[in-house]
Amino acid sequence: MSKANKSFIDLDPSEAKALLTAIGGEPFRLEQIHNWIYKNHVSNWDEMENIPRSLLNDLSEAILLHPLEIIHITGSKTESTRKFLFKTQNGHNIESVLMHEKDRTTVCISSQVGCAVDCKFCATASMGFIQNLSAGEIVDQVLQLERESGKKITNVVFMGMGEPFLNYNRVMDGATRLNQDLGFGARRITISTAGIVPKIRKMADENRQFKLAISLNAIDENKRKKIMPLTETHSMDDLMSAAQYYYQKTKRFITFEFVLLEGINDSPSDGKQLIQHLSGLPCKVNVIPYNEIGGEFSRPDEQTIREFLSSLKNAPFTVTVRWSKGTDIDAGCGQLAIKEVA
Ligand code: SF4
Repeated sequence: MSKANKSFIDLDPSEAKALLTAIGGEPFRLEQIHNWIYKNHVSNWDEMENIPRSLLNDLSEAILLHPLEIIHITGSKTESTRKFLFKTQNGHNIESVLMHEKDRTTVCISSQVGCAVDCKFCATASMGFIQNLSAGEIVDQVLQLERESGKKITNVVFMGMGEPFLNYNRVMDGATRLNQDLGFGARRITISTAGIVPKIRKMADENRQFKLAISLNAIDENKRKKIMPLTETHSMDDLMSAAQYYYQKTKRFITFEFVLLEGINDSPSDGKQLIQHLSGLPCKVNVIPYNEIGGEFSRPDEQTIREFLSSLKNAPFTVTVRWSKGTDIDAGCGQLAIKEVA
């Protein structure tokens, strides 16, 4: 039997059953395989100890177990942040980041190879769009990082490479599998969009339980167009009315991310505008001082950041500041772009 194009982790349950039957495996073996993959995090077929060797040989001849292969890790096991470079079966590279902080272990995963959205402050944008990841490739980032971590992952964020809502179905399938196969609570999975308006409404209509984050970064329409050109097709008015719709439909808070860029959106008047526009909407705002990537934008100095934050002091929403982890290894927010291609 020649090797399938998909990996085993990419198969849906009926495809997995059909494959097992085709090579003469009993149906109950599926549950054993499932446990080895999702509970024991095995890296290859040989590690499945209670499965007959002949069946493992047939499986490994028929199909790869994992769709992704780790080809480089930046950072050592003792560091709080590590970046993983994976190769897909068709030879493209993606990155994921593992972060430990107190009792939280978070993985930031990719949804696409590259990205078409072209946010001007983002390193991934420079790659352009290459391809969508499959649900199996999305799940496999978490599986492999949990194995490498040695600790239970507590939170998953879709904030790596790609715009998750431009790969909506596979992202939702992947997130659903993280929930059902790996046991992540839906509220521990955050999907972050640059503002693909119809998909925000779709997520609300489908009553998906995952958390929603919107990368906002400016309230003023012209300012936002300059740093996020998708605002030309997904206007601020449409974005804010989709956010209102999402809250009305789901009663769940949205997190708005606000990447602070020197001289662009970091003044107290930017802060005041933020309050005016978000006041009627139950939400949280996460301020992220920019992680520089060697381009045209800079991180504001500490005094400017402090002044911006104090302009939000009386905001009716919760404000948090994310001092990104991993900026020294280009693993901070917006810094993911493939530099090393194996
Ligand atoms: S910030 Fe997100 S949506 Fe924007 S270009 Fe980067 S990866 Fe794409």
